[in-house]
Amino acid sequence: MKHFAILTDVTRCIGCEACVEACQKTNGTGDDAPHRWQPDPNALSSSRWTTLAHTREGRFVRVHCRHCLDPSCVAACPVGAMRRTPQGAVVYDPEICMGCRYCMIACPFRMTRYEWSSAVPKVRKCILCYQKVMSGELEQPACTAACPTKATVFGEREALLAEARRRLAAEPERYIQHIWGEHEVGGTSVLYLSDVPLDEAGWPRTLGDHPRPKLAREVLGTVPWTFAGVAVACYGVHWTLDRRRKVAAAEHSHEDEDGGEQ
Ligand code: SF4
Ligand code: SF4
Ligand code: SF4
Repeated sequence: MKHFAILTDVTRCIGCEACVEACQKTNGTGDDAPHRWQPDPNALSSSRWTTLAHTREGRFVRVHCRHCLDPSCVAACPVGAMRRTPQGAVVYDPEICMGCRYCMIACPFRMTRYEWSSAVPKVRKCILCYQKVMSGELEQPACTAACPTKATVFGEREALLAEARRRLAAEPERYIQHIWGEHEVGGTSVLYLSDVPLDEAGWPRTLGDHPRPKLAREVLGTVPWTFAGVAVACYGVHWTLDRRRKVAAAEHSHEDEDGGEQ
């Protein structure tokens, strides 16, 4: 089974945002959220699944879900709306999600976003263009295909790790001798090479190399009952709205079958 990954080389990124634009267009994420919900239009959001962090040294660092090998968001989701695919992509089913946002609390990278401005909000994040790649609609994710400098590339994780090691060995003066994502939180499917530290660009030093799911379950196990009650209430609202939507769709379809007669 192929295990897909993305390797981003910060030294090659020119900050053009072609990756951001391609993601929004291909995934139909819609416009940026209203200012009220997203004061910084360049920040990661429900309609911006990837963006660029700017380091103090003037580098640009792509930010998006890291597709952890042992994802905390999956462990934390009480209804199985988040799942890790055999190919490594961590994907999300909005039909199952009840909007409790436990995945947002559990993610060690803070990569999931919520549709705060929507009446029926969902969690949104990078999905590694999983369905489009698996169905053959895309040969690779839209973001990597769009990058004009090949700063961000798609491939098998082991092959990309080998390529990263090759670059570190070939140009040792160019890079910090580290592959971000090889070991952090048990390893991720999004890997980085850089010539500047990435602590302030989404890779805090406190991450450690141990997977977080157990920790996520322990922390969420201590969540107060009032919060759990909110989650149950969320599910009730979700179920009611979803049911109304399905009934409306069924009625609409019957009207169509009847030729639109009243
Ligand atoms: S980065 Fe966060 S949202 Fe993405 S797979 Fe890891 S825990 Fe889940
Ligand atoms: S892999 Fe797909 S969903 Fe993820 S940032 Fe790239 S284009 Fe967007
Ligand atoms: S498309 Fe490539 S060069 Fe442009 S911002 Fe994205 S990663 Fe950087």
